[in-house]
Amino acid sequence: MSKYVYSFGAGISEGAATMKNLLGGKGANLAEMTNLGIPVPAGFTISTEVCTWFYANGKQYPAGLSEQVDEALGQIERIMDATFGDAGNPLLVSVRSGSRSSMPGMMDTILNLGLNETTVQGLIARSGNARFAYDSYRRFVQMYGDVVMGVRPEGKDAHDPFEEILERKKQALGVHLDTQLSAEDLKELVAEFKSEIKHRTGHAFPEDPKVQLWGAIGAVFSSWNNDRAIAYRKLNNIPESWGTAVNVQAMVFGNMGDDCATGVAFSRDPASGEKKFYGEYLRNAQGEDVVAGIRTPEPIEHLEQEMPLAFAELTGIYRTLEQHYRDMQDIEFTVQRGKLWMLQCRVGKRTGFAAIRIAVDMVNEGLISEQEALRRVEPDQLNQLLRPVFDVSEKRRAETEGRIVAKGLNAGPGAASGKVVFNAHDAEEWAKRGEKVILVRIETSPEDIRGMNAAQGILTARGGMTSHAALVARQMGKICVAGCGALQIDYRSRRMTVGDTVVKEGDYISIDGTTGEVIAGAIPTIPSEVLQVLLQKTLDPAHSDVYRRYASLMEWADKARKLNIRTNADQPDQAAAARAFGAEGIGLCRTEHMFFEEDRIDAVREMILADDEAGRRAALNKLLPMQRNDFRGIFEVMNGYPVTIRTLDPPLHEFLPHEDADIAELAKIMNVAFEKLKRKVEDLKEANPMLGHRGCRLGIVFPEITEMQARAIFEAATDCQKRGVRALPEVMIPLVGHVNELNLQADIVRRVAGEVKAETGVAVEYSVGTMIELPRAALTAHEIAGTAEFFSFGTNDLTQTTFGLSRDDAKFLPEYLDREIWPGDPFVSIDRGGVGVLIQIGVEKGRSVRSALKVGICGEHGGDPDSVEFCHQTGLNYVSCSPYRVPIARLAAARAALS
Ligand code: PEP
Ligand code: MG
Repeated sequence: MSKYVYSFGAGISEGAATMKNLLGGKGANLAEMTNLGIPVPAGFTISTEVCTWFYANGKQYPAGLSEQVDEALGQIERIMDATFGDAGNPLLVSVRSGSRSSMPGMMDTILNLGLNETTVQGLIARSGNARFAYDSYRRFVQMYGDVVMGVRPEGKDAHDPFEEILERKKQALGVHLDTQLSAEDLKELVAEFKSEIKHRTGHAFPEDPKVQLWGAIGAVFSSWNNDRAIAYRKLNNIPESWGTAVNVQAMVFGNMGDDCATGVAFSRDPASGEKKFYGEYLRNAQGEDVVAGIRTPEPIEHLEQEMPLAFAELTGIYRTLEQHYRDMQDIEFTVQRGKLWMLQCRVGKRTGFAAIRIAVDMVNEGLISEQEALRRVEPDQLNQLLRPVFDVSEKRRAETEGRIVAKGLNAGPGAASGKVVFNAHDAEEWAKRGEKVILVRIETSPEDIRGMNAAQGILTARGGMTSHAALVARQMGKICVAGCGALQIDYRSRRMTVGDTVVKEGDYISIDGTTGEVIAGAIPTIPSEVLQVLLQKTLDPAHSDVYRRYASLMEWADKARKLNIRTNADQPDQAAAARAFGAEGIGLCRTEHMFFEEDRIDAVREMILADDEAGRRAALNKLLPMQRNDFRGIFEVMNGYPVTIRTLDPPLHEFLPHEDADIAELAKIMNVAFEKLKRKVEDLKEANPMLGHRGCRLGIVFPEITEMQARAIFEAATDCQKRGVRALPEVMIPLVGHVNELNLQADIVRRVAGEVKAETGVAVEYSVGTMIELPRAALTAHEIAGTAEFFSFGTNDLTQTTFGLSRDDAKFLPEYLDREIWPGDPFVSIDRGGVGVLIQIGVEKGRSVRSALKVGICGEHGGDPDSVEFCHQTGLNYVSCSPYRVPIARLAAARAALS
């Protein structure tokens, strides 16, 4: 019979860390810790295969599972010396989810399972503590009622029904804290909770522990497909097919008295990456109190004074685990009557800041290799290093004006400013309208995941650094301040009070996720340290650890990668930024962007409106010196690096107004009749301009445009050469579909190059190539490469033309993505199965006739890590992306080379 259940306990386990796919991360690590001799309460894991079976068979279980569960439960009973459902000495268990890749707080957990009216008496007898027993019972009924029986808040402004009963009880008794409730009060609450469940669901709370157990197992498997788990999987690319395991484990109690505690800790600081034991715990509490963020916990350092023996053992264990796994560990522990138990370990989630710091530090400590460090930093995490911080003077001003109204925990570094919203739904809606919002919640709840994603930043009144949502915020790279107890939040009236300050929905606030400060009003932000060193040059690299670690990582990436990284830039300042980020050339200079500038749009329009070639040439002559200047500026910045300049691409009507009033105004300026101008606009109108008179088709019908641009390029290059600046222009012809189109344009470029050389006596090193952005170009690449000295894949247009899908108005796309008709947005990540195949064909055919053909990509995909990996695998020479994505592309290229 198949094996579905894997036991662990008393130093022996049937699983190991290598069995994550089968046992999930939690189960595999519990097994591994057991094998390492670390104290772990006995338990068993039901494998992810059962989850798959469960969904494939109408939520049934495979034959034999029930017997295997019984046997494993028997083993826990023997090890823990207690019996499930026993009146005198009851075994209680926890039932938890655990998938291959951790999904903090997204699925369900049930604690204290096995309690009923009989066994609670046994627990009282064994613990000698009736209050503790009824508190555990009360928590169990509440969790089970919520998770298994579905008693939970209805609607976004609603409160939790059990919490409301609890609040009412406290009010009636005139107490504030849960700890002020007596055993008798808690016993009454159990009864009230049960009748609420009966009232809401029509079903009685189950008394039979076996029924409870199977209810919980079913609920945990079912939670694999709850809304928040699905949303989390989508955001993190976790396949639905993986499924979750279920872990059933003997309960140990952190809430039996003052010699008990429970906590969560990290072997390094997950926000900053600093090498120090970092965590929180609560005395006399259960694990969910720390993680769910209901009480704000104590820093882990305090445990050293309060429970020195347990602390010393914990310190030894976290060090062992970090050395064993060679990565930062996130651990959960409980101290029951002075004895330490480990409940979980896993590789800890971290901010981008921390990921970089930990990876670089661990290389320096000799724990991991440079290559391993590169594998551990996701390219997009670099974004966080480039993110803004508050302008110090503005912040100081806010301080003197008394606008720093509160301080919470610095859960996600960076600075954010925005309008306050009080629920995740509104955060999403407002963000869709283009508003910048800060999501403010009492507690950090995993339900908020979509709203958190939409918000600039997240602020919560309760919950510690390790609350689930704080973890999620960090992983998303969101700015987050958590556990800010000074906030009094009222969801119903949509306002919060902090001291004397009242903040209403829609008011501006700012949060500093690096310090934890909450500031009333908006504060402008300034660039990160990396930018201050690289771009503004206002910070000495010697004074910035952040920069130095960034630089190390980039240096290792550059050693590992095979792809060159270029940038898409049209202006000298953009080019300079890209150089500072490590760009090794310009892969795309869109010359039309230069045409839109204030001082030249008139000449462009004059050119378009001219009746004949002579008129067009006269207007182009006005543009020539301006373009020459543009190119000169770029060549100077890129001294010695190649610059790919594309000839004019967009349809000409883009340069003209379309509304009558605007046409009339332009007619006046240009001194032409309104009617004439209007007719011209009408003439140029196209039903489908993206497939119309654009790209090389413009330069073919109006060769004088290409001529002017070529002249501007070669005159600028010549001028630079004379002054010792090494200009390396690569002239690129857009939207070629047939080699004859390229031939016509290449002839013009080469002729003009010859003319400029004859006029000046200066030889410029240059090449002429083409964009490959039409399927026909890819399919006839062997013909095109006869003329083209380089190819650059324009994957924006290539995606558009391959899918027959407009780049500008694919309004149905979100629905396609929601329904997973396409695996992802093909404009973001290269569609490997279609567009990718065309690229492969283009590269192969092109190089079949010109073996040294230089091939790159300049569509937006050039800055997308997944697409960069594809480009590496396809043998491209370079990718080109926007300046701020250059570091990301460098790292992505290195990771592709290492994988
Ligand atoms: C492309 O089509 O991928 C490209 C880079 O050109 P543009 O986006 O300017 O059309
Ligand atoms: Mg294009």
